[in-house]
Amino acid sequence: MALIRGTGRPFVMLSLLGILVAMIVATLVGLYVVNEKHAQFSAPGLHTEVWQSYQLHSETHHLIETAERTLAGETGPRHLIQRLGVMKSLLLPLQRTDVFSSLSEPRPEVEATLDTLQHLADEWSSQLSWQDTTAAERVAGDIVQRLPAVLEDTHHVIVAANIAVANQVDSERQDLKRTFRLLAWTLLVLGAGCIPLMLKLIRDHHSAKRLTQELGAFNQALEQRVAERTRSLNERKALLSTILESSPSDVALIGANDQRVFYVSETLRQHSPNPSAFQLRHLFVDSRQYELFQQRLMTQKALDNWEAQLAPRAPYWALLSVRHLQLESQPVWLIWSLDISERKHMERELKQLASTDTLTGLPNRRTFLLRSLKQLQRADRDGRLCAALAIDIDLFKRINDEYGHQVGDDILRKVAQQLDRHLSDLGIVGRLGGEEFAALLPDVSADDAWQIAETLRNAVKAIRTRTEHGDTLVVTISVGIATHHAGATLKQLLMQADDALYRAKTNGRDCCEYFGHPDTATPTA
Ligand code: GH3
Ligand code: MG
Ligand code: MG
Repeated sequence: MALIRGTGRPFVMLSLLGILVAMIVATLVGLYVVNEKHAQFSAPGLHTEVWQSYQLHSETHHLIETAERTLAGETGPRHLIQRLGVMKSLLLPLQRTDVFSSLSEPRPEVEATLDTLQHLADEWSSQLSWQDTTAAERVAGDIVQRLPAVLEDTHHVIVAANIAVANQVDSERQDLKRTFRLLAWTLLVLGAGCIPLMLKLIRDHHSAKRLTQELGAFNQALEQRVAERTRSLNERKALLSTILESSPSDVALIGANDQRVFYVSETLRQHSPNPSAFQLRHLFVDSRQYELFQQRLMTQKALDNWEAQLAPRAPYWALLSVRHLQLESQPVWLIWSLDISERKHMERELKQLASTDTLTGLPNRRTFLLRSLKQLQRADRDGRLCAALAIDIDLFKRINDEYGHQVGDDILRKVAQQLDRHLSDLGIVGRLGGEEFAALLPDVSADDAWQIAETLRNAVKAIRTRTEHGDTLVVTISVGIATHHAGATLKQLLMQADDALYRAKTNGRDCCEYFGHPDTATPTA
């Protein structure tokens, strides 16, 4: 049973099948044996030895009678020959039969009797002929003399045949009985073998039925859970889509190793050169910027507020933030991209506003000083020349006072235009405040600076401004010039230029002055 339990249902089924086949075989063998025995027992010549032995005894007796009648002259040789023939035909089956081997003890006298009779019958038959009456009388005499002694022996043959046949029948009956007992036991054992198997099968059937029911219930529960999970997932997916689509940032989910696109916002997709085959690399305007972005992501766990120019077809500035995630067991980048074009624009404007003088459009004092400082450092480093100009509009207060601020502003703008026109290409120019301007000109010698200042002075002087009363105004400027010496600061250079400007003012205005001793101040030109 342990084996059956261990090996399971197929083994049980195979065992049952085996037993069934064995039972069928056993039943067929039984039927075959019954059929064989029936044929054997119903055969006509079965156990006729008893009858033959009786017949032999009877025929021996008849032969003696026929011999006596022959001697009496009542019959002839024909009857003797017939009787001898009959006796011989009875002797033959008795001699051939093996029934006497069934005797419990061997009886050699039976065989001897049969042999004697055979021998005598042969001897007498050989002497007889149909017409020879003399030979018949002689043989009859011999028969009457010798055969009665054998008659008693034929009686023993009858007894022996009876016992032998009885023994044989009994032996066959025993054999048959054993065969049937064996078959019965076989069927019984096989039937008994079926019982545990059937029980096991019934038990298995019940447990299979129970398991099927449990499995069905489990399946149903599982299906329900799957359906609920699917619905919940769909809801979450829809919610996520809504969040992503309504998010102010564009989102992309990209495989970190293979750049596989798991998700990308429609806006980002449309910004890509090939929306149907989105690739993060191609979203960047500058491929070097993408390489840098990628390098950063390789070394950093997260990236925040990384500015990049996206969309090569219509570039815009975006602020990228990235987080590393795991998706389907592989690393991915969750990228948020915020369009900051407007902010950038505002920043640029603010920067412009912060660095530019709103009235004239020239760099303001702060910007001028910052740029000049850098320029001076470069000049120092490279050992290059550098000249500074301090420019001031002459008697500007009077214009304001007489014609109003608006006219003053207008003149300020026009003067600034000339400054821009003549100095911007040469170096840095800016409005330091009020009607004061300054310029720093790299690679410009003292002589060149003088020439430039003079040109500028004349250009400003050429400006004509008409007032609302029809007056035409002319303004002049005074210019102070200083050249840079290695080691001097910007402040020192500008102060020197301012000193020179002061001298120009005191010298009558509308002129240029060079910083230094009065004798060396005016360039040779
Ligand atoms: P000087 O030749 O000695 O430089 O005489 P000035 O009148 O030009 O010098 P001052 O420093 O006395 O006057 C400068 C004037 O510039 C004073 C102010 O009214 C005027 N001013 C300063 N900023 C502005 C401005 O933005 N617009 C206008 N319209 N006037 C300004
Ligand atoms: Mg002035
Ligand atoms: Mg002034």
